[in-house]
Amino acid sequence: MKIILLGGPACGKGVQAKKICEKYNLVHISTGELLRDKIKQNTALSEKLKETISSGNLVADNIICELVKEKISTCQKDGYLLDGFPRTMMQANLYSEFDKPDIVILLETDKNLALSRVKSRRVCLNCKASLKVDELKNKHCPYCSGSVGTRIDDTAEVFEKRYEIYKMQSAPLIKYYGDLGLLVKIENNHSIEETFNEIIKSLSKLKELK
Ligand code: ADP
Repeated sequence: MKIILLGGPACGKGVQAKKICEKYNLVHISTGELLRDKIKQNTALSEKLKETISSGNLVADNIICELVKEKISTCQKDGYLLDGFPRTMMQANLYSEFDKPDIVILLETDKNLALSRVKSRRVCLNCKASLKVDELKNKHCPYCSGSVGTRIDDTAEVFEKRYEIYKMQSAPLIKYYGDLGLLVKIENNHSIEETFNEIIKSLSKLKELK
């Protein structure tokens, strides 16, 4: 199964992606994570990536597409889920040259709710779990005891910029995948479990059709 998860910044893609991949044995391909890993490698590209991401801009389409293509080519599970890709029509076109999704899930989240999630979001620097600041008992991850930090792009100002870019660059993807008959919209203003159940319903229908 090949899934694309679409949605604005901090709409909850990462959390749902993890749960879907566990349930259906899929490789989770998060372009945000791939980029943050590249930054840690301290190569010539790292500084440039850090600058782009912390300002809320998008990384160049060709760099992203190469990363995704490489990751898909080594994918050994029952498929994959793309989290954060494609983000532009150019990326969608480049992706269509080498693969095609079975379903595209759009997570629709209220903007103010997404902003409040950004303000309280912390990440485990080790296992990458997304955590809420008020649920942390100390500065360590409750899952793996790793150190907890903040993402370089999780500020209110950068969120606004990312939101604007999403509306301009990524919203056309909704129409594109809708016209291809692949799009399912799921509202994500409720609990993690409620949203996950809605996603499972759509994926079960898809499996029955196959
Ligand atoms: P979120 O899920 O909160 O929107 P991500 O972790 O997916 O954030 O992405 C963080 C940042 O990484 C983006 O704001 C952008 O700078 C960069 N990035 C991630 N995916 C892509 C992509 N497909 N194309 C261009 N830039 C990307």
